[in-house]
Amino acid sequence: MKALVWQGINRVGIETVPDPTILQPTDAIVRITSTAICGSDLHLLDGYVPSMVPGDILGHEFMGEVMEVGKGVRDIKVGDRVIVPFPIACGKCWFCQQGLTSLCDNSNDNAKLAETMFGYAPSGIYGYSHLTGGYAGGQAQFARTLYADANLFKMPEGVPDEQLLFLTDILPTGYMAAVNCDIQPGDTVAVYGCGPVGLFAIMSAFLLGAGEVIAIDRFPDRLDMAAKLGAQPLNYEQEEVLASLKLRTGGRGPDSCIDAVGMEAHGTGPGGLYDALKQTTRMAESDRPHALRAAIMSVRKGGTVSVAGVYGGLGDKIPLGAFMNKGLTMRTGQTHVHRYVPKLLEHIMKGDIDPTVVVTHRLSLDEAPHGYDIFKHKHDHCVKCVLDP
Ligand code: NAD
Ligand code: ZN
Repeated sequence: MKALVWQGINRVGIETVPDPTILQPTDAIVRITSTAICGSDLHLLDGYVPSMVPGDILGHEFMGEVMEVGKGVRDIKVGDRVIVPFPIACGKCWFCQQGLTSLCDNSNDNAKLAETMFGYAPSGIYGYSHLTGGYAGGQAQFARTLYADANLFKMPEGVPDEQLLFLTDILPTGYMAAVNCDIQPGDTVAVYGCGPVGLFAIMSAFLLGAGEVIAIDRFPDRLDMAAKLGAQPLNYEQEEVLASLKLRTGGRGPDSCIDAVGMEAHGTGPGGLYDALKQTTRMAESDRPHALRAAIMSVRKGGTVSVAGVYGGLGDKIPLGAFMNKGLTMRTGQTHVHRYVPKLLEHIMKGDIDPTVVVTHRLSLDEAPHGYDIFKHKHDHCVKCVLDP
């Protein structure tokens, strides 16, 4: 089959690779009908996530048709139309039982290696380095999926892929970011970053009762999209963010701030390098918790900072003094996608949410390297690339 593979830092390409096969009785093979490029893939492209090996297949946002199931699969059948959440959950461990599916204890075959390197083991994620299990991703024609009964969600026929695809990641991610703000009716929420995740966080914040959402970015087209969703745009290259947020909230600051940026390659301000991890990770000059710092400094006293953005390694220069003395709450994590799929599917079917608003590019799998290029550099007004393998 054809797949998009990581070939080294800032290099991806299409290669012919062996078709995936069933390795465990609980596996299923999915023929992929739609897949997407995520901001999280850019951290791999940039080389900020350790333990990538040339030839690794990328992609963790994919859906398709079940082609084959292992002997132990009960509920999922050949021919089912499914979406595949990006975190892999066994469905049985203590964490899965609590609905904390991105923290599953049994989904990372390389947990020991990760623990040796970091002192903790993340759960399994498709196409996301060997420290999250080394599983081939879904920017490909086929993928092996694990614990099929616990992970694959059957989707209704007659609804286009594009309406459903983002249930795999960015729609629940934006939603969980807003849920984590514990929004009270009429609250003001500031969202740092107007990429696909930020845009879905804006949508979700309104859905959960926010009175006002302030959307922060530097790209006018992304800020326009945020404004179309009802948010007040704030361009951080034109306005001083902290002062402007104060002014817009009667001097108090937003009730909650969402970091939908993470290890963004663009960022300024003071910050050190992470010496301890330099050996294993390529650390960027700009690999600094920039938006996170601003979120902590700008949120009102007693407010909440919700971190959807992905971080790796050690962050320094976090204003812990402000965090403590302002009495803040911080919530974060990889998204417990499984927990939110049923509710969000209902919202899509009722028309409360139209996830297709973020799609700017529809490309073939062969064009995926170009997709990475324009998505990373925000060229050609690119916000979200959907690939048709
Ligand atoms: P993206 O790169 O398209 O969007 C990031 C946006 O942040 C860009 O528009 C950029 O201009 C803006 N930005 C950069 N620095 C900023 C700053 N200092 N202040 C305000 N805005 C700034 O990426 P995306 O697909 O929207 O993903 C966003 C983040 O969410 C990434 O870190 C990604 O890894 C993460 N993510 C997390 C989860 C999860 O489970 N927690 C899931 C998916 C994605
Ligand atoms: Zn993603």
